[in-house]
Amino acid sequence: MERLDILSMDMEELNNYIVSIGEKKFRAAQIYEWLHVKLASSFSDMSNLSKNLREVLERDCIIRMPRILEMYESKIDGTRKYLFGLYDGCVIESVLMKYKHGNSVCISSQVGCRMGCRFCASTIDGLERNLTPSEMIGQIYMIQKDIGERVSNIVVMGSGEPFDNYDNLIRFIGLITSEKGLNISSRNITVSTCGLVPNIIRFADEKLQVTLAISLHAPNDEKRREIMPVANKYSIDEILKACHYFYDKTKRRITFEYSLIEHVNDSKEEALALAKLLQKLNCHVNLIPVNPIKERDYKHSKEEYIMKFKRILEDNKVNVTIRREMGADINAACGQLRRSYIKEQKE
Ligand code: SAH
Repeated sequence: MERLDILSMDMEELNNYIVSIGEKKFRAAQIYEWLHVKLASSFSDMSNLSKNLREVLERDCIIRMPRILEMYESKIDGTRKYLFGLYDGCVIESVLMKYKHGNSVCISSQVGCRMGCRFCASTIDGLERNLTPSEMIGQIYMIQKDIGERVSNIVVMGSGEPFDNYDNLIRFIGLITSEKGLNISSRNITVSTCGLVPNIIRFADEKLQVTLAISLHAPNDEKRREIMPVANKYSIDEILKACHYFYDKTKRRITFEYSLIEHVNDSKEEALALAKLLQKLNCHVNLIPVNPIKERDYKHSKEEYIMKFKRILEDNKVNVTIRREMGADINAACGQLRRSYIKEQKE
């Protein structure tokens, strides 16, 4: 029998399981606290449970906490990149960013990705598998344990497409915002998607106070299709309609990510077209100089072009910031670290 993924269970499921093995309900609350507050990674740590119960848990359940394989810390700003190993040998990466307002962790939502964005390293070998809620939450728990400080912000912006792993994403958000767990405010969570329209709508209907970020990267469908295969499935028009719906339901300002690639999507005309698209929406644009990956010959836009692009948006009353890369000395685009690690292991 496959063991139960206990770290993915919510309080109610844990209650039901505990009762089913003939234990008292309050044991479930103790176990939940061990897992989600004390961040225990083994049942033997759970010192207020009987030896017998710990043995039953050991037999029935698995704590799917990722293991730290490698960690790189930036000497410039303290940013840390973590490489994690999962129970089945899969490898994922996460990033810790230290800001004045608190610690922020960028987590992966899948092993690999099947969206195929041309500039992204995570998608080159396709999708390996979905991450379980426990593996998503485990990235945060392991980092919090490693630094001995609270993590207060989460961005689901690492490898993978969160809306391609929808049910596990929703379960993960439930666990991480639970008052009985780390109790992270949903306002401090951002979920980034390449624009899977039906799930943007579903997400709006969940009425969570989570920030939605849309990876747009082009102001028209033609250009978008060149760099993002998902654009063959959903048009910008459909995405924006879904964004308006999300805003109506949640009143949360939407973020648009736009990675600037030299001579691909960084012209004046494209800046103007983007401004026109977004004018009627309460939103914010994050310009990201593209992080070149060695498998493709994309370069990031020149500083002058980045500033010009930004100014055009500002002149057209669109909120905009430039996202400067953190941890420049441990520079590795999303998914690069994992790829180089896997390559090393094979050689
Ligand atoms: N699949 C989701 C979340 C993961 S990607 C999404 O598409 O939003 C997180 C963000 O990083 C996306 O905006 C993505 O387009 C961007 N990104 C990926 N590779 C990049 C690179 N090499 N340089 C700059 N941005 C990149």
